[in-house]
Amino acid sequence: MARLADHFLSEEHLIFREQTRRFVQDKLAPHVDEWEEKKHFPGEVYQWLGDAGLLGVTAPEEMGGAGGDLFYAMIFAEEMCRSGSSGLAAGVGSLGISLPPLIHHGTPEQVDKFVRPVLAGKKVSALGVTEPGAGSDVASIRTRAVRDGDHYIVNGAKSFITSGTRADFITTVVRTGGEGFGGISLLVIESNRDGFSVARNMPKMGWHASDTAELAFDNVRVPVENLIGSENGGFYLLMENFASERLSLAFMAVEMAQLAFEESMKYVQDRRAFGKTLAGHQVTRHKLAEMVAGIDLCRTYNYALAARIIAGDNPMMEVAIAKNKSVDMASEVIDQAVQLHGGYGYMREFLVERLYRDIRLFPIGGGTREVMNEIISKMILPR
Ligand SMILES: Cc1cc2nc3c(=O)[nH]c(=O)nc-3n(C[C@H](O)[C@H](O)[C@H](O)COP(=O)(O)OP(=O)(O)OC[C@H]3O[C@@H](n4cnc5c(N)ncnc54)[C@H](O)[C@@H]3O)c2cc1C
Repeated sequence: MARLADHFLSEEHLIFREQTRRFVQDKLAPHVDEWEEKKHFPGEVYQWLGDAGLLGVTAPEEMGGAGGDLFYAMIFAEEMCRSGSSGLAAGVGSLGISLPPLIHHGTPEQVDKFVRPVLAGKKVSALGVTEPGAGSDVASIRTRAVRDGDHYIVNGAKSFITSGTRADFITTVVRTGGEGFGGISLLVIESNRDGFSVARNMPKMGWHASDTAELAFDNVRVPVENLIGSENGGFYLLMENFASERLSLAFMAVEMAQLAFEESMKYVQDRRAFGKTLAGHQVTRHKLAEMVAGIDLCRTYNYALAARIIAGDNPMMEVAIAKNKSVDMASEVIDQAVQLHGGYGYMREFLVERLYRDIRLFPIGGGTREVMNEIISKMILPR
């Protein structure tokens, strides 16, 4: 099938893809059905991935990473989705959204204490932005960190936190100053501190292999040295972080569409109706053609965008476009894949059923479709 996007990749990227695919297919994919049913994957998965050098593929080598460019992170995200569980990809991927502020703005002590053990697969990290009362409107978060000598006292709550039930620490967005964006900081909060608790693991529609937690902070004393960057300077760090999270969701969505397409290709060449295979009906063939076209267009856009970011640009509008268009395309392709599977498409034992549930998160998580459209419209309209 067409893969125009591969023209952006070097021989080394393609080798990395092959190796990662083999690892994911041999070590992870065989367990995915069980982990999805149990709504949990074992902690050793982090260790397996750490030992294979697959955590932190873009983190600097001196921090325990592999020092690769952005394509490596995106290839890793794609291949993790090819395990058949984007929930597993998201559970493991919580390090990809919680570590970057520490990698780019952390002190050497923070890197030693927090980054290295996560990249080695020995600790788990999560990102805590969303609150029960504030999601899209990040500037109105209320979890407060009040300075008390060389500590902060943290009170508040976070919701929907991926890997929150098992994280050793949470890169947490807290209010250290006044109202709005200018009063926000990023603080690392370890889960073994007094006053920290997991209020509950939230049951959900899809992403079953991952956990999604509600967290409570009740007078949690956190040392000032856990502050990332400057006090009240957290918003810029957060925006940087959102961009890479959104791009990675766009790549994941395209790969989920790819999986749905591949499942459909197998099914329609096997299933017969009215004296021929489903693939023998022109309507089916056209559906497959539209799937390929949508996947290839979005994938190529995303790879071109990643190339621009690697070259040093910060294309916020294009990242928002990539997320919305990839997610819309994937939602449509997966819906069509379920349709092509008929009744079997509605059954748990067919991958397209899981893809259908899992893709529903994508226009919500990491910034909703409407928030992406806000970003795009602010860029194109004069204020
Ligand atoms: C499975 C899952 C995993 C998650 N993992 C994490 C995580 O690890 N860490 C974390 O911090 N968060 C996480 N989230 C939270 C996620 O990022 C938020 O759900 C998302 O940002 C939306 O926030 P909200 O749910 O509060 O919705 P709201 O902000 O309340 O939005 C509700 C609706 O209103 C719309 N809306 C809001 N503002 C506007 C506007 N100005 N104009 C038009 N429409 C608007 C939204 O688009 C949406 O449709 C996760 C969520 C889920 C479901």
